Formats: sequence, structure tokens, C-alpha cells
Amino acid sequence: MKVLPDVALTYDDVLLVPQYSDVASRRKLSTQTRLTRGMNLQIPIISANMDTVTEAEMAITMAREGGIGIIHRFMTIDEQVWQIQRVKKTESFIVENPITLTVSHTVGDVKKIVEETYTGGILVLDGGERLVGIITTRDLLFEEDDHKPLSEIMTRDVVTAPPDTTLEQAEKILHEHRIEKLPLVDANGKLVGLITMKDIMKIAEFPKATKDARGRLAVGAAVGVKSTELKRVERLLEAGADCIVVDIAHGDSKLEMDIIKAIRKNFTHAQIVGGNVATADGTQRLIDAGVDAVKVGVGPGSICITRVVAGAGIPQLTAIMNCAAVARPQNIPIIADGGIRASGDVVKALAGGASSVMIGSLLAGTDESPGLLMTRKGHRYKVSRGMASLQANVARKAREGEAEITQEEIEDYVSEGVEAAVPYRGSAREMLGQLVGGLQSGMSYTNAHSVDELYEKAVFIRMTEVGLAESKPHDVDVM
Ligand code: IMP
Repeated sequence: MKVLPDVALTYDDVLLVPQYSDVASRRKLSTQTRLTRGMNLQIPIISANMDTVTEAEMAITMAREGGIGIIHRFMTIDEQVWQIQRVKKTESFIVENPITLTVSHTVGDVKKIVEETYTGGILVLDGGERLVGIITTRDLLFEEDDHKPLSEIMTRDVVTAPPDTTLEQAEKILHEHRIEKLPLVDANGKLVGLITMKDIMKIAEFPKATKDARGRLAVGAAVGVKSTELKRVERLLEAGADCIVVDIAHGDSKLEMDIIKAIRKNFTHAQIVGGNVATADGTQRLIDAGVDAVKVGVGPGSICITRVVAGAGIPQLTAIMNCAAVARPQNIPIIADGGIRASGDVVKALAGGASSVMIGSLLAGTDESPGLLMTRKGHRYKVSRGMASLQANVARKAREGEAEITQEEIEDYVSEGVEAAVPYRGSAREMLGQLVGGLQSGMSYTNAHSVDELYEKAVFIRMTEVGLAESKPHDVDVM
């Protein structure tokens, strides 16, 4: 990037200057990037921690497509933990608690389980935790005596593997032995997990998926700044959350620095995202407090009225540039949060120095967001709302089982967000496909072969209002 603006700019103030490009196939360009110091993504897109955007269903799709979702915090700790667990259970290639029976169970017992769970290949334990056999569908064929104990019909010669078996090793063993299930047993013969062919094949369906070290889908979780939130952090990390997003509107604050230092001290290995900030100084303070990524954006969100209410904020592109100038040399990724309306904005955010973007309302309109699809005047829509809106806070109280909000509280509440209808936009997968396709086109215009190269090569040019009007469809009736 070569031009630093003398006034604060946002996405619509600039365009990327087209450059000579040797990119032959834009669809093959890698969009790999970093979420935090220790985590990579295959697509630079994060779904926002808003109660109309990210719960487990959205997070599962985001991770499968190579991005990540951050589960919002407007719910009890138990509920947020449950959301994380749902994501984690989705696509692990190791089943940690496989269904088991013991030698003294009967043919009738196993038939019932097969019928109820559609699971073939039930593992048989000795009565304790040692694996001694497996009942395959073949073992059950022609078996009419429902009272017969499993010890009489089970296959005893089970192919097993050690607990630390990798995906590649498991595939090889399953293939060599022409089997569907591979139980994992430790040195004492104790059953510790199960790998199945079906789960491995599901993984191949989503080659870009963001995974943790155990092969489970990755997911993040948001927390607040009260010191009581340390308990939430602990439970979320235990449940397998891959990063903790400490998220408040004004992240360059003592409250935020204190909780980040406390999380860093208590959970040394946690990946911590801090924010939101919009200045170089704020970015440096977060880095000094110990974050692994900085989330940037004060006021750009579609449902945000902070700039109207508080008169504070920084136009988003300038904010990204200023924060990135400080964070990039220190190896800390920037997340550009808010104000993304189309793929062109994603390209500009990354060209300005962000490593990924966080998206709220665009994704709130998709199938995977929480909330109902509604119809108004013949158009289908869903709801997006600011987390600092009165509506979101009333909903939070109800969800957390607190007493109803009083008239006085309503009158005292200064809202910094609105509730809005957003057009229905189909599946999140399609939406992500459009955003990534647009990003790759933008990279090709800039002759960038990677997200980092986009930042290095990008040249911004400012435009006038007339240029902006020319940039959109004009003088035609768009159908
Ligand atoms: P969007 O993608 O333009 O809809 O922006 C989403 C971002 O807006 C979120 O990730 C938050 O950073 C921010 N945001 C969410 N709720 C509020 C609010 O109530 N006031 C201000 N900003 C908000």
C-alpha cells in the first residue's frame, strides 16, 4: 500500500487501481490467512458474535467452508458451552464416546440399539472398559434367538489402533482391512474412541474446513469484560473453544485491558482476540496486554448508531490501515469488523491491512442464522440487531432467566444499536461462495497471489461522489 490518506476514509471513498496481472485462473487463488497469531483460516471470513448471526448452526457452516463463527455471549454460560459442544461434535473423525454393550448383553439388546440408532458395528466390552469384540451386521444375520449372549456371536478378532492414530493412518488401516470401524484402544486394552469410514468420508466433503488439532470443527466464543467472565472463559476453553473474543464497543479501555491480562495469566495457551479499537494506540495497548489478534471497528456496523449517539468513531478503512501499521510488524493479525456490504469491501479491507473480516448483517439474512424467516410486503427477510440495542438486551435478560426489564430501565437505556430487517439471502454457503469469488477477482486485478500479497501490492485511489455513482449500476432499471 502506498498512499496514506490525509482524511479518514472508508470503503466507498476508494477503489483499487487495476494492475498488470499474470493470474491465469482466479478461482485457484489461495485465500488462506491468519485469524490469530496461532490460527489459520482458508477463507478470511468470520461470522459476528451477534444473537441474530452466530449460534452453533452458523458456526458449523462457517468452519466447514474454511472460515470461523464466534458464538455470541448473550446467553447463560451453560448454554454457550452447549453451543460449543454442538459444533465440536459435528465432524470429529474420532467418536469419543462410542455406543457399547457388554458380553452379557443379548442379541435382542443389540438389535434394539441398531434399530434405534441406525448404527451398525456395536463395540462389546468385557463388563469394564476393555474392548473384547464387535458385533457387525453380518454377525446378526440369521440370528433368531434374542436371548443369546453377545459373547457367543461377536467377532473377537477386532482390528484396533492406538489412541494417537492420525487421520491418514486410520484411512490406511480401514482400507487395508476392508473394514468400516476402527476402535482406538490404549496399551491396557481400554476403549478410548472410535474412527469410522463414514466420518472420514464426511471430512472429504469439506476439504477447506477449519479444524482443531483433534480434527474437530473450530469455533470461537465471545466473552464480556466483567471479572466474573473468567469463569465463562474457563468453561468455554474446557468445552473446546478455539479462541476467546473479548468483545466490547470501546475496547481501548481499562476494563478490557484488565480482563485480557487476567485471561492471559490464567490461560496461557488461549488464543485471545481483543477489541474493538480503531486507533494505532489502542491496538498497541491490546498487544501489550497480551492479545493474539486485534478486532478493529468503531461505528462501521450496519446496525450501529454509535457515531450518531456518541459522535465517536473512525471511518473503517483508515481505522484498519492505522491499526495494521502497528500490528503487522508485530505479527498480530487484524480483523476488520463491521460495514462489509459486498465482496468489494472484503477486498478493500484486506488490501488495507486486515487479515480477515467479521460480518454481521449480510450473514443474518441466511438460513443458518438464528431467528425466523418472515415475509413482509411480498419480500422474505430475517432480523439483524445490534447487541447494544434495547431489543437485544431485553432478549438477553429473558434468556438468562433474569427478572423482566422495568419501564425505568427501558427509559434509562442508551441504545447504540438498532433492530432491522435484512433481505433473505439463501444459504450461508452460497453467500460465502460469492464473497470468496469476489475476493479472488479483486486479487487478480491487483496481481496478488495471496492475501498477504494483496496488502503488499495494493494501490488505492480516492474517488469523488460522482465516481462512486459511476461505480454502481446507473441509468438502467436493474431487474
Ligand atoms: P455488520 O457486518 O455491518 O452488520 O457489522 C457487524 C458488527 O457490528 C459486529 O461484529 C459488531 O462489531 C458491531 N455491532 C454489533 N452490535 C452493535 C451495536 O449494537 N452497536 C454498534 N455496533 C454493533
